[in-house]
Amino acid sequence: MTVAARHAPVAAPIFRTDAFINGRFVPAQSGRRFVAVNPATGQPLAEVASCDGKDVDLAVQAARTAFEDRRWAGLKPSERKRILVKFAELVRAAREDLALTETLNMGKPISDARSIDVRATADAIAYYGEAADKVYGEIAPTSDDNLALIMREPLGVVGCVTPWNFPMIMAAWKFAPALAMGNSVVLKPAEESPLTALKLAALAQEAGIPDGVFNVVPGLGEEAGAALGLHPDVDAIGFTGSTEVGRYFMRYSADSNLKRVALELGGKTGFVVAHDVPDLDAVAEAAAAGIFFNQGEMCTAGSRLLADWRIKDELVERIAAAAQKWMPDDPLNPEAPAGAVVSAVHQKRILAAIDEGLAEGARLVVGGTAVREETGGAFVAPTVFDGVEPHSALAQKEIFGPVLSVIGFDGLDQAVEIANNTVYGLGAAVWSADLGAAHKVARRFKAGVVYVNCFDADDITTPFGGVKQSGFGRDKSLHALEKYSDLKTIWTRL
Ligand code: NAP
Ligand code: MG
Repeated sequence: MTVAARHAPVAAPIFRTDAFINGRFVPAQSGRRFVAVNPATGQPLAEVASCDGKDVDLAVQAARTAFEDRRWAGLKPSERKRILVKFAELVRAAREDLALTETLNMGKPISDARSIDVRATADAIAYYGEAADKVYGEIAPTSDDNLALIMREPLGVVGCVTPWNFPMIMAAWKFAPALAMGNSVVLKPAEESPLTALKLAALAQEAGIPDGVFNVVPGLGEEAGAALGLHPDVDAIGFTGSTEVGRYFMRYSADSNLKRVALELGGKTGFVVAHDVPDLDAVAEAAAAGIFFNQGEMCTAGSRLLADWRIKDELVERIAAAAQKWMPDDPLNPEAPAGAVVSAVHQKRILAAIDEGLAEGARLVVGGTAVREETGGAFVAPTVFDGVEPHSALAQKEIFGPVLSVIGFDGLDQAVEIANNTVYGLGAAVWSADLGAAHKVARRFKAGVVYVNCFDADDITTPFGGVKQSGFGRDKSLHALEKYSDLKTIWTRL
């Protein structure tokens, strides 16, 4: 029996397909719908409400009303905590349903959806729930005659616009701190993967989040996303997505009400390996996981492997071997290491980037093709290019797929220069037996997150985000609360 045939068939979950506005599931005002597709089969899954400006307006109005009457912002913080912690428990209890929905909608392996996506989503909601009643104000050190209180207040209506690679996690990293601070939220999930956000809305309501406080408006970026970005009554946008669309949100803000914008954008992580690494196999395994996990659809994917010339060929050989362990399989197979990429359109983009790499003269070591085409799904083989020129398209453009570019370097100074030489600044990694040298390199990386002798370590307690054109603002950790709140000074003459 093949591995693929061993897993039991799964019952299709029941999807929520309407928008969630003011505590009710409602179709788009226009009646329009778009089709959510299972990228592992190419088959339609559901027809989802396609919200536009009218629906976004209703959601923002509901969120505004809920904010102004203080049904959520005015609750005792410990009460918001209780409700958010319950929300997290409901997410954990719905693990199988949420994981299956995520996998069917965006193609990631079911085991990852369970153990990473659902877990990290619940963890984020619980963490910010727990934080709700631990945020203190300050008293400024003014003169004896004055009392100057510094309060931290919610902003009002927060729009969250999210991508499809970790649909639930990316959403929770934004809505959970926003809700913890007392804001109302309007979430616009990615067109490719709206189904889990709608399930989260039902769980939020079940947990006791009042009507109007948490709204979800599925729809197209140019319609629902733009309407949220341009809305005059939205106070802030938390955005994760491409650098290109991030630029739109800056314009939307400038063209409307100067709403705050926080941007988590693309990346092109440099994964630097010094000549003295003691265990090349361990590095090869980490490098392969760093680019092939989640089908390479990761903003922090270690997409540029920078290897010292002295070890490069040997390392490439081992990574090519490790790559085979990441060959995509049916995402419903609990042993699948990788699944489908998010859509046939995205698969074409990845294959076009591979063709561009070939045309530039890079050497294809493994992969480079679509696989499992007989399934009707969108799968790409783990791909490794060697001899990549640091200025080439392959080394500069974010591919967001399972494509690794290997670049040789001569000494760590040159490695840092190459690593920093992109428009992005999200992640970077350095591997070396010399911890002092590695930490000096870590300080010189222009990146928001740096890994030393590891890759993709993760915890909700650590800030996450980028510099340069990877954006600004940080998700995760207590610092995220700052994005969704503001300081108010209250003077009293004594
Ligand atoms: P995307 O195309 O930029 O879309 C992100 C979100 O913006 C989606 O909800 C999308 O809606 C919406 N959108 C698209 N066009 C819009 C417009 N003209 N106006 C307003 N909203 C618009 O990104 P993606 O393809 O979903 O995700 C991949 C990107 O996300 C990569 O660049 C990746 O690096 C980045 N990412 C960054 C991080 C991070 O933390 N830094 C994490 C994960 C992903 P539609 O889906 O309906 O078009
Ligand atoms: Mg998109």
